[in-house]
Amino acid sequence: MDVVIVGAGIVGLTTARALSAKRPELRIALLEKEPAVARHQTGSNSGVIHSGIYYKPGSLKARLTVSGKAELERFCADHGVPYERCGKVIVATRPEELAQLDMLAQRAADNAVLAERISVQQLHELEPHAAGLGALRVASTGIVDYPVLCQWLADELEQADHEIRLHTKVSGIAEEDQQVVVATESDYLTAKVLINCAGLHSDRIANLTPSSQTDIRIMPFRGEYYSLIPARRHLVNNLIYPVPDSRFPFLGVHFTRMVNGGVEAGPNAVPALAREGYRWGDINRRDLTEILTARSSRILARNFWRTGLGEIHRSLSKRAFVTALQALVPEVRSEDLIRTGAGVRAQAIGPDGALLDDFAFAETARQIHVVNAPSPAATASFAIGRIIADKAIERLG
Ligand SMILES: Cc1cc2nc3c(=O)[nH]c(=O)nc-3n(C[C@H](O)[C@H](O)[C@H](O)COP(=O)(O)OP(=O)(O)OC[C@H]3O[C@@H](n4cnc5c(N)ncnc54)[C@H](O)[C@@H]3O)c2cc1C
Repeated sequence: MDVVIVGAGIVGLTTARALSAKRPELRIALLEKEPAVARHQTGSNSGVIHSGIYYKPGSLKARLTVSGKAELERFCADHGVPYERCGKVIVATRPEELAQLDMLAQRAADNAVLAERISVQQLHELEPHAAGLGALRVASTGIVDYPVLCQWLADELEQADHEIRLHTKVSGIAEEDQQVVVATESDYLTAKVLINCAGLHSDRIANLTPSSQTDIRIMPFRGEYYSLIPARRHLVNNLIYPVPDSRFPFLGVHFTRMVNGGVEAGPNAVPALAREGYRWGDINRRDLTEILTARSSRILARNFWRTGLGEIHRSLSKRAFVTALQALVPEVRSEDLIRTGAGVRAQAIGPDGALLDDFAFAETARQIHVVNAPSPAATASFAIGRIIADKAIERLG
C-alpha cells in the first residue's frame, strides 16, 4: 500500500478522497474496526453544517469550517445527498447574554460569516414559539445526513479501486526508514505513510510508536438527545441555539431539525465512562481508570466541576433537561420529548487539563495523526482531508 488510513469516519473518508483526487495512482486502504463506515462520532452527531461563526479568527477551525462547508455542500448537491441550508437562530434568554450576542456577531464578521442581529419580533417571525430578548440569525447554517454522505464517499473510493476493510482493528504500528508496518488483529500491512483518523482512539493509535507519542489525551464527552414527538414538531421550524458558554467547547442544549423531518433536542455534555460509552451503564475499566487517575482529568474536574455537575444533573433528570430547553421554547413539555440516542465526542485535553480548542495533528517522518477533530470537524472534513492529503504527499515525494 502507499497509504493506510486508520478509521472510516468522515475525516478518514474525506482524507482518502482528497488523496485519490490529487494522486489517482496511489493505492489507499482504509482500516475500520466496525462493520460499517461512520459508526461513531460521524454517525451520531447532530447533523448540522456549521457556518463557522464561533471559532477564534485565524484558527484552523475558523478557516477550515468555512472552506470545508462550501466543498461539502457542493458534494451533496452533485451526489443528491440530502442537505438543506435552513439557517439558525442563537437566542439570548438573559439580559447579560445580549452583549455576548454582539460579541458573536463581531466574531462572525471576523470570520467572514454573515450573521444578523435580529429583534424579538423578527425572531418570532422565524421561530414563533421561541422566547428570547434578542437573537442572532445565521442564514448559512445547514443540515445534512452525514451517514448517507459517508456512504457516498465510501462507494466512490471503492469505485476508484481503493480498499475499505471493515471489521479490521489496528492494534500495532512500527515505523521503519522506508515504510510503516501496521498490525491488525489478523494480518500485517505495509505502507509508505500511515494516517490516523481514529477519533475516540486517536491518542492511543498515536501512542503505538515511540516517535509519535503524544501527551494529548482524548476525553470522551457524551451528548444525549431527546426527540420531539411528531405532534409537537411544529414548535421548531429550524435550528434554535442558546448563547454558548465561551469557556466550554460545547454549544449548550438546542433544537435541531433533521433532514428526515424529526426535531432533536440536545446534546448535553457529560463525561462518558468509556470511550464508546453511549449510556451510563457502558463502563470500560481501562478507560475509566485513565479518566479517574490522569492528572489532566483532575485539573479539568477542578476547573469545570460546577458546569459538569449541572450537565450530569440534566443527564439524570429529564425535568432538568426540559427546563434548559424551556428557556428557548417555553411551550415544550416533558411529555413532548422521548429519549433517543447519544453520541460521544472525542475531545482532546492537554497535560495541563486544558480542553484543546483547535484541530490538532501529531506528525513523524511517515505518520500523520489527527489528535483533535471535535465539532465542527464533520462540517470541515473536506478541508481537513485536503490538509492531511498535502502532508501525506510531502512524505510520499
Ligand atoms: C454528539 C455530537 C454532536 C456533534 N454534532 C456535530 C455537528 O452537528 N456538526 C459537525 O460538524 N460536527 C459535529 N460533531 C463532531 C463531528 O461528528 C466529529 O468531529 C467528526 O465526526 C469526527 O470524525 P472522525 O472521522 O474524526 O471520527 P469518527 O467518526 O469517530 O471516526 C473514527 C473511526 O475510527 C475507527 N477506529 C477507531 N479506532 C480504530 C482502530 N484501532 N482500528 C480501526 N478503526 C478504528 C472508529 O470505529 C471510527 O469509525 C458532533 C459530535 C458529537 C459526538
